[in-house]
Amino acid sequence: MTSSSTAAREAQYLPPSDLAANYKRGIQRDFVFKPHPSSTIPGSTRIKKVENFYVRPRWLFVRIETEGGVVGWGEGTLEGHTEAVQGSLADIARRIVGWDAMNIEDIYTYLYRHRFYRGGEVLMSAMSGVDIALWDIKGKVLGVPVWQLLGGAVRERCEVYGWIGGDRPSDVLEQAKARKAQGFTKVKMNATESIAWLDSPHALDETVNRLAQVKSIGIDAGLDFHGRVHKAMAKQLAQQLEPHRPLFIEEPLLPGHVNEMKDLYNKTTIPIALGERLFTRQDVRPYFEAGCIDIIQPDIAHAGGISETRKIAIMAEAYDIGVAPHCPLGPLAFAASLQVGFATPNFVICEMSWKMHYNTGGFDLLTYMTNPEVFEVRDGHIDLLTSPGLGIELNEELIRSEAEEAAKLEPWINPLFRGPDGTVREW
Ligand SMILES: [Mg+2]
Repeated sequence: MTSSSTAAREAQYLPPSDLAANYKRGIQRDFVFKPHPSSTIPGSTRIKKVENFYVRPRWLFVRIETEGGVVGWGEGTLEGHTEAVQGSLADIARRIVGWDAMNIEDIYTYLYRHRFYRGGEVLMSAMSGVDIALWDIKGKVLGVPVWQLLGGAVRERCEVYGWIGGDRPSDVLEQAKARKAQGFTKVKMNATESIAWLDSPHALDETVNRLAQVKSIGIDAGLDFHGRVHKAMAKQLAQQLEPHRPLFIEEPLLPGHVNEMKDLYNKTTIPIALGERLFTRQDVRPYFEAGCIDIIQPDIAHAGGISETRKIAIMAEAYDIGVAPHCPLGPLAFAASLQVGFATPNFVICEMSWKMHYNTGGFDLLTYMTNPEVFEVRDGHIDLLTSPGLGIELNEELIRSEAEEAAKLEPWINPLFRGPDGTVREW
């Protein structure tokens, strides 16, 4: 542990210092209500238009405009399934034009329950994009950040982690040093490259070595098994990692293996995290009830937006489970995740895609923002976002022109791994 991260931890813990005295009065951040410029236009909050924009590197933004001229932005990025979500969004757009954008729960309930078939990554990602945009509108109309609408701030800043290593981890030590220099105190990396259902035990040696290297510079690391490590190898890997104390292991098994996850949970003291491929409260419920995870990782662009992520978080608290929003995506998903984090007691940390290996071609987390300074990483944290709605401003002209260019290209798809025998392996 570095001295800086130790100091940060102890700073929370110093009664009766000045800090402790301040916190006796609660969160001390002054908050000034400042109406969003678009909310000064008098007019109806009924939905006039729902648009979506696919932009590089791989994001799908949703734009909703009210009859009164207020614009809200959301994100329904579903990596590798862009056109499927766009199809769902076209259907949703046709249905909700004319509805009052302020009635978020009613629109959510209608979209989820009315159409008989429900859930899943495609429909929920489209709904997530719409839901996030509606919260942005409500915040802008009322002149407050979304966290204010969720009950107010319970923290002054949210902890975040960055990625190192890419899809095929190597040279992680240099990358970990770079992340530390950028202000991060925690990182995440893929645990392994492509791995067979039953592989040589030596296939795991490098993973253990890499974690030891990263820890040697005094930062913590979560290891993403990515659902690519099957049970026979996962239990060996967890055991070998244990002495090196990873922050957590993520998706140690593929979604759906609740009983098998419980078996693994009982074999290790490493915190187990998962949830990026679970959608809605219904999907997380069996994991909560089985008692087989420590950290739930809803992805706000897939799980059902701000409305559903908040409900999953509240549900998790009852099981003593922390919430670490999964977010290797764009600025809207990240801002929305932070908004939930600012208002949620059992939030623990949020993923941040800044300078991530998927952000290629000159497109990165801050590319489309006109107020990128709000995402500055300081001592591993992002400060409270204070502007109305999601708290970020976008360059709409750039988004529209980039969407025209990106429409000429094949949307992003994930890499493919095949084993030496030619068989498809998990990504
Ligand atoms: Mg993952």
